[in-house]
Amino acid sequence: MTNPSSPIRHELRAIAPYNAGLTLEEVRTKYHVDQVAKLGSNENPLGPSPTLRGLFPDIGELARLYPDPQGRALCARLAADFGVLRNQVVLGNGSEDLIAVICRSVVRPDDTMATLYPSFPLHEDYVTLMGGRIERVTVTEDLTIDMKALLAAIARRPRMLMFSNPMNPVGTWLTPDNLLKVITALDPGTLIVVDEAYAEYAAGEDYPSAVEMLKDSGCNWVVLRTFSKAYGLAGLRIGYGIVSDGDLCDFFNRARTPFNTNSIAQFSAMAALDDAHHLKRSVESTRLERERMGTALEAMGFRIAPSKCNFLFIDTGRTAAHLAEALLESGVIVKPWKQTGFETFIRVSIGSHEENDHFLWALKSYPK
Ligand SMILES: *Cc1c(COP(=O)(O)O)cnc(C)c1O
Repeated sequence: MTNPSSPIRHELRAIAPYNAGLTLEEVRTKYHVDQVAKLGSNENPLGPSPTLRGLFPDIGELARLYPDPQGRALCARLAADFGVLRNQVVLGNGSEDLIAVICRSVVRPDDTMATLYPSFPLHEDYVTLMGGRIERVTVTEDLTIDMKALLAAIARRPRMLMFSNPMNPVGTWLTPDNLLKVITALDPGTLIVVDEAYAEYAAGEDYPSAVEMLKDSGCNWVVLRTFSKAYGLAGLRIGYGIVSDGDLCDFFNRARTPFNTNSIAQFSAMAALDDAHHLKRSVESTRLERERMGTALEAMGFRIAPSKCNFLFIDTGRTAAHLAEALLESGVIVKPWKQTGFETFIRVSIGSHEENDHFLWALKSYPK
């Protein structure tokens, strides 16, 4: 029964609940398994830097006082790292918070937002909520980015172009050459938002830093980063945006809630940036395990997308939701993809060596 006097806007009715999957505890209780490999949410199996444990002996004062609403220390640190001004950095309660802030600030009814597809659902949801329209640029047959279609979408001058690079859920990426083509083709009226949630995993020759490439482009741009993935702080909720200029950034600051990032998250992010060794360890062990998993899955006959991320996108050749349910019975959490055209795919996070073996073992019962 729908409530006839519900005050909810029809745009909100069009949005599906966030598919966050099950918690470890829910899986243990529901499926009666002791060992659970949680490979559905791209969390870091190593967790945060070990220095975190010693950081908050005096949590009392930290908890009692409001956090710095500007997060000055962290913004200054990030600005220095990226070679931008302090007023070009905005903090979010996770980068997902900033996706909402940007959409609230920019998207008007009937505006178009172009994005890569299959997409990160939140990129679409907040646009829908604001009454905007989505234009999807679907990956090619070989699961790489369709540059021709992307450039055609850009030529139609969308209000916003927002996509992740590397691309969640696929793992593939825009090379420096291709990102340059995108930037060159942009209309001045299009805001480009590059979500670099997995940049730390992807960094290297074949992968561009969007901030570096956009800096002198004259475009309006935002690059989003997060501490949830390679830095292992998903539970603390902190991410940030680097913005083309201080004026634009100031508006995003007005559109967010004033205390959107808490003190513990701000301090932990600073500590995370100081522990380069832990980041390197996380990235390297993920790369090694990703290669091992990829080889094993291909040997089993599965088709997988190229990935620079801490996950693999796997064509299971059958309804992924059913397979994911069966894997839960073996204590493995993966993410079955539900978007049209990709219902046979699962996205599997690269976990610890043991978790990955647990997944491969469970999958053996469902051969290709
Ligand atoms: C994980 C992820 C995020 C990050 O979310 P947080 O809110 O920072 O935890 C953002 N964008 C993409 C594409 C992601 O995969």
